[in-house]
Formats: sequence, C-alpha cells, structure tokens
Amino acid sequence: MITQESIINQLRDNGLKVTSQRLAIVEVLLEKRDLHPGARLVYREAKKKKKSLSLSTTYATLNEFSRHGIIKKLQFDTMEDRYDGNLEEHINLICERCKKILDYNVPTAVDPRG
Ligand SMILES: [Zn+2]
Repeated sequence: MITQESIINQLRDNGLKVTSQRLAIVEVLLEKRDLHPGARLVYREAKKKKKSLSLSTTYATLNEFSRHGIIKKLQFDTMEDRYDGNLEEHINLICERCKKILDYNVPTAVDPRG
C-alpha cells in the first residue's frame, strides 16, 4: 500500500528535499491515482493546495520522482505522459477511445493442484 508517508520516506531515502510543493504533488498523485494523471492535471489540482506552485516545477518534480522510481512515468505516442503512483505489480489497461487508464491487478498464481 502506497501512502503519503511511504512516499515521504522514499523522498528522504533518495536525498530529495520534502517541500510543501512536493507534498502537494504527492497528495494529488495519491488522490488521483486511478486517473493516472498527466502533468497538467496534477498541476491544476496541486495548485489548489499550494498556490505558489508553477507548471514548470510540477513537470520537474514529476520527472524527478519518476527518475527515482517513486512514481512510474507512462509514455505514449498519441497523448501526453501520464504518471502512475501505483508501483505495485499491475497492468495498465488503456481504452483506445477515451484514453482512460485502468489498473488491472495481476491475480496471484493459483496452484492448480489446489
Ligand atoms: Zn496503473
């Protein structure tokens, strides 16, 4: 289970400063995890929590988080990069029409011999 606390610990482990702007972004990533938000959506939501946040800081922060493996960057040919705060093993199912991304949790293998 990924919580705000576990992300803060990861920031510290990676030597990243825990700033209020980064915390606002972390909160949005967790709240909107199901949406796999793009940078602009993260920015819009995080700015409500932290007025001084800029779009370029949002981009830089998301890149830094994904570089450190704190979140996962999903890249596509036909749409903007999206960010996944769910680092547990799962498959992202993408609707070609609405571009919605859904998490599909891989069921743990069941021993057929039961
Ligand atoms: Zn996902």
